[in-house]
Amino acid sequence: MLQTATALPWRDDALPVSLGQRMRNERVLEPVPEGSAAGAVDRCDVLVIGGGPAGATLSRLLAEKGRHVVLLEKDRHPRFHIGESLLPMNLPILERLGLLEQVRAIGLLKPGVEMCSDSHPSGCQTYRFEKAKNLRYPYAFEVRRSEFDALLMRHTAAGGACVYEGVKVIEVEPLADDATKVTARDENGRTLTWQARFLVDASGRSAFLATRSGRKVKNPKHNAAAVFGHFENAERRHGRDEGNIALYWFAHGWIWMIPLRDGTMSVGAVCWPDYLKGRKGSLDDFLWDTLRLSPGVAARLSRARLKGAAQATGNYSYRATRMSGPGFLLLGDAYAFIDPVFSSGVYLGLKSAVMGADAVDTWLQDRKAGAQRLAALEKELSRGLARLSWFIYRFTTPAIHALFMAPRNLFGMEQAVLSLLAGDVFGQRRGGDLPLVLFKGLYYVTTGLLWAKSWAAYRRRKQNRAINVTSDAPPLGSTPSDT
Ligand SMILES: Cc1cc2nc3c(=O)[nH]c(=O)nc-3n(C[C@H](O)[C@H](O)[C@H](O)COP(=O)(O)OP(=O)(O)OC[C@H]3O[C@@H](n4cnc5c(N)ncnc54)[C@H](O)[C@@H]3O)c2cc1C
Repeated sequence: MLQTATALPWRDDALPVSLGQRMRNERVLEPVPEGSAAGAVDRCDVLVIGGGPAGATLSRLLAEKGRHVVLLEKDRHPRFHIGESLLPMNLPILERLGLLEQVRAIGLLKPGVEMCSDSHPSGCQTYRFEKAKNLRYPYAFEVRRSEFDALLMRHTAAGGACVYEGVKVIEVEPLADDATKVTARDENGRTLTWQARFLVDASGRSAFLATRSGRKVKNPKHNAAAVFGHFENAERRHGRDEGNIALYWFAHGWIWMIPLRDGTMSVGAVCWPDYLKGRKGSLDDFLWDTLRLSPGVAARLSRARLKGAAQATGNYSYRATRMSGPGFLLLGDAYAFIDPVFSSGVYLGLKSAVMGADAVDTWLQDRKAGAQRLAALEKELSRGLARLSWFIYRFTTPAIHALFMAPRNLFGMEQAVLSLLAGDVFGQRRGGDLPLVLFKGLYYVTTGLLWAKSWAAYRRRKQNRAINVTSDAPPLGSTPSDT
């Protein structure tokens, strides 16, 4: 029988700034214990695959409820991850976890979002969350995900979950009574086995369960890929807008600029696959060439230097055909991911982790009631994803471009859009509230007025849906010129 990590030698209210170092030095997250016999089986209530925001949050909440939770993470925190811009709707969840002040300490205050266009006379429009309705916190934070994720993992371990890093799940096998046998391998090549009453897949975009069961389905309505990197000496905004995320439309998609607390700027381009297919040269050069296509971005990067290598990810829009079933739940990106444009990924992961923890706990006591809670979670998440998708699918259309660059608060429409930008996609009534309905109406009228451009944009979008771009093969994956 494996031993598990329990009491941990530090308190949450004494978190140092350098989280990663402390984790490594004090071995807060225990590796798999020495001397455990290969082939031994440990039992747990819940086994969670993946220690990103979704897996860590759910594990902490279930451990608080007294469940024996095992969380397996293949990497070691702190590790790089893309997804650095949080939303105001994240903050009440972080508060509930008792982590809001720690996140404030590692984050840069994000009061709003800038929408920028080189083809528009006004250049950039700033949307400040303070104008949105019903937000408990009218701001958010930009964070380094290495620090943010490490913070969550430490908090999870402190809450009593058994957290193992450097342990990769390689196999799962259904057992009687909806239990699952989980086989993992540690960094020393040892095979470790658990028997879990409930299995949660929070493995991110690798979507462990959905991929293995053939249930990961590429989004038929949306297709794009991203190239990104961290830059130093990029031009930042001044004053209270320093922490705003900026989104720039350009000819082949859109570009984000996310300022981080230490002066680094995260910059990436989300591009149509037909543009990516034309990549020549190294990924670093391709990133630079792409960013320079936007004069506004190029100006802000004129003195900048790329820190480390550029990275890329492709084919990221997908959804599993099923979110849960007897004894299992898919959480965060392991269930679905649409697009980074509204910075919703971490929030959707945290929100479903909160709801998922209640549902799993209920399931462990009463399967019928638990199944209802799991079904309700899927329904709620699907509604939120549908609300977001309407805007995501249209973000690069000429009509959305025109409307976002010339905001009008007719009938509260600007506030409704701001609530969406803040991540408030679950709170509205079915079918959307009136200002959003009016906004959509205005969108269709504007599309009609801009019919020639709109038609061209529609055709390009349609042609691009069929193009396959994966992260591990050209044009995104390494080519001889990268090495
Ligand atoms: C280009 C791009 C930009 C983005 N920008 C933003 C943004 O600004 N804001 C935002 O909120 N979101 C953003 N996102 C989305 C965000 O990155 C994800 O939605 C978020 O990280 C999902 O969290 P998660 O916990 O579900 O998965 P992850 O954070 O991916 O965590 C999954 C974890 O599982 C581990 N794992 C995987 N397989 C195994 C295994 N077999 N065994 C053990 N461990 C395993 C991984 O190592 C990883 O640590 C962006 C995404 C992309 C592609």
